[in-house]
Amino acid sequence: MCLMASHEPKSSSSLIVPGETTSTCWSCGEMRAAHFCSACGKVQPPVPVDYFTFFGFPRKLNIDTAKLEREFYELSRKLHPDIYAQAESREQQWSLQQSSLLNDAYRTLKDPVKRTQYLLRLEGVEVEEQSMSATEKARATGEVKKQVVPPDLLEEVFDLNMELEELRAQKKIGEDNPALIEEIGRQKLELEEKYDALLQELKGYWNEWDKLVDSGTEEDRRKIRDKMLDLLNRRNYIRNLVRDVNEVLEGSS
Ligand SMILES: [Zn+2]
Repeated sequence: MCLMASHEPKSSSSLIVPGETTSTCWSCGEMRAAHFCSACGKVQPPVPVDYFTFFGFPRKLNIDTAKLEREFYELSRKLHPDIYAQAESREQQWSLQQSSLLNDAYRTLKDPVKRTQYLLRLEGVEVEEQSMSATEKARATGEVKKQVVPPDLLEEVFDLNMELEELRAQKKIGEDNPALIEEIGRQKLELEEKYDALLQELKGYWNEWDKLVDSGTEEDRRKIRDKMLDLLNRRNYIRNLVRDVNEVLEGSS
């Protein structure tokens, strides 16, 4: 297995084209690296690259997080605007831009879910897109907005909503119902377990995705991409549901 080799992303549907990360240094004319000139050490103007390319990673979901951390701290030090306080103004500007890009890239890549969502966006799909467009469509047609319930949760969500409705109604008239609160709490716990399990499932898709980056067809990649999208949408649905439950429960202690 050749895990260390760097691969050019094969996808053609990205928003950001991973262009040239190296070109000629503005100061000394040598070939430079992405952030600094390798010859004279001057900070370079940022080039529009995706976050994976920024760190020199292939567009894969399993990343070397220790390496990410190391690179981040080293670049943070080198790009720190204080270092450029005496430099000419365009260098100050570039160090600020590079620092801010660095922070965004690091924050996005270190988080498993953000990293996956970002990759999906590079691949041309947004996680919230479905519900967003559904919302807009509902607004335009005057329909009541209805979130699409993931099929595997239909029954659970139905029961839970009934119970929440009941609890709200009872609270309104000042009645106490510890048994119902306990039952809702139990269901909430199940949802939270599902929420965590989905992250594990997502990591399984990462492995499939990463293999396909090197050797898969566009069609294969699209399939995995859609599975990840579906999973993250389901996960967001559960998150919102748990938030609703918490809102109702918080007022009932
Ligand atoms: Zn240089």
